[in-house]
Amino acid sequence: MSDRHPSSGPLVEGPHDPEHDPTASYALDRGYVADLTRRSAATSGRSVEVRSPIGDQPLAHIPQSSEDDVEEAFRRARRAQSDWARTSIDSRADALLRLHDLILDRQDEIIDLVCLESGKARKHAFDEPMHIALTARYYARTAHEHLDTRRVRGVIPVLTRIDVNRVPKGVVGVISPWNYPFTMALCDGLPALLAGNAVVAKPDAQSMLSALLAARLLDEAGFPPDLWQVVAGPGAEIGPALVQRADHICFTGSTATGRLVATGCAERLIGCSLELGGKNPILVLRDADLEKAAEGAVRAAFSNAGQLCVSMERLFVADQIYDRFLERFVARTEAMTLGATLDWGNDMGSLVSRRQLETVTAHVDDAVAKGARVLTGGRGRPDLGPFFYEPTILEGVTPAMTCFGNETFGPVVSAYRFQDEAEAIARANDGEYGLNASIYSRNGARSRHVARQIRCGTVNVNEAFAASFGSIEAPMGGMRSSGLGRRQGSEGVLRFTETQSVATQRVMRFAPSYGMSDEMYAKVMTASLRVMKKMGRA
Ligand code: NAD
Repeated sequence: MSDRHPSSGPLVEGPHDPEHDPTASYALDRGYVADLTRRSAATSGRSVEVRSPIGDQPLAHIPQSSEDDVEEAFRRARRAQSDWARTSIDSRADALLRLHDLILDRQDEIIDLVCLESGKARKHAFDEPMHIALTARYYARTAHEHLDTRRVRGVIPVLTRIDVNRVPKGVVGVISPWNYPFTMALCDGLPALLAGNAVVAKPDAQSMLSALLAARLLDEAGFPPDLWQVVAGPGAEIGPALVQRADHICFTGSTATGRLVATGCAERLIGCSLELGGKNPILVLRDADLEKAAEGAVRAAFSNAGQLCVSMERLFVADQIYDRFLERFVARTEAMTLGATLDWGNDMGSLVSRRQLETVTAHVDDAVAKGARVLTGGRGRPDLGPFFYEPTILEGVTPAMTCFGNETFGPVVSAYRFQDEAEAIARANDGEYGLNASIYSRNGARSRHVARQIRCGTVNVNEAFAASFGSIEAPMGGMRSSGLGRRQGSEGVLRFTETQSVATQRVMRFAPSYGMSDEMYAKVMTASLRVMKKMGRA
């Protein structure tokens, strides 16, 4: 293990008893953990133990924040923000580019920590530093495009000048989940910083270490330390404390919690962006390349053990190719390598927690009890780790079963036949969610036509989710109960700004001049409106 890590790396060999625990054993260097936890605003004296899903071993004790700590975090963040907002856009963009390099250089450390906290396979953890590096580069390189003051047409040509400014909102609260511990800790906050805001981040209790490493890397990249605050504690206590103080809330998590957060924001009349749950469909059309589609479906359904907001839990396959496709999909699924180690080579890792394992088990057991067939998987794998569950393909799932319309957030996909595209589109649009969809077909134009009819914030053609997720210029988010607002692209940074229009009036004022009566003024204005329409003016 040690040859893979820099000498100052976080990992030390943990106690290993192969007779009782066949999984590898890892532990974190105490000094390393202490350095990370010092980065949070947490003086309550309370701490919570975090355990790794790999072998359910203790990882660290995380100091918890009190409401006073949250108050202090906002006070510091506000002070830092007022200086930060006066820095140039170029200097903020430069800091993002430095972060980009640091993340690429330190990816082993980041990936180790992510794997330890989440139990995911190394190749899925690798996506996290990649996504943040892409995000940092995109926003650094396009900063002026989004944030520069724009001139727009005034009411009177030439005489009315309008400048539209993008003003930072102030302090943005970022509440993030555990499934992508490093990505979710940073991806929304980076554009917030670029726009001149400060951030108070509240990561999930299970993913605090990755989030604290993210904060340390921001410090090392040269962002002022007080600009990015991290608080720790139970979501139901600390989350509302953020909602009460922030100028905008950026929330990623379940639809149920998202509704609570939105209600709190509505009461304070602050904006919020919500990235919520999904029950994402994958459509395999009649003309799809079956091998490519089967390979894609494995990644679509089982990346990060299905604990991915954009992963696919509903598979609709054209009747004519259903049997041939399923044969390939099942074979590829059964060939996956499962394992709970930090090494490369595993195709799928552990679920994150006992709670996730219980949900996945309950969904599959309920479906089977009500008549669904298990084509592969359908059981836990305690021999690999305490929270392991096999990648599972179900058939014969009906609306009476929990997993028909509810998000499982695990490695479980239900396969259905469809007769024609209209039926596939209608069934893909069924239910309350609208996050991500995937279409496999050899006909790109046809697929894009189908995509337009699917009520999802992103649709990937001949790819599961990585094409849209990795294209940072493409806005990403949910329709219907899957969210509000978009991350990535222009919308992903503009949500952290207030728009301010500054109007400068020259020569002519908006009142009668030179002894003109009000009536004459009204006539002149009416005539000039008619002329401007004739001239084609907007
Ligand atoms: P969750 O809603 O339970 O928790 C998410 C975050 O909210 C955590 O940090 C939690 O501590 C905090 N929280 C809990 N109660 C709160 C409250 N009352 N007020 C404020 N914050 C509170 O979600 P989860 O189960 O941990 O995460 C999985 C869910 O997240 C899935 O539904 C998944 O689809 C969704 N998700 C969505 C996206 C996306 O981009 N759309 C990305 C990742 C995950």
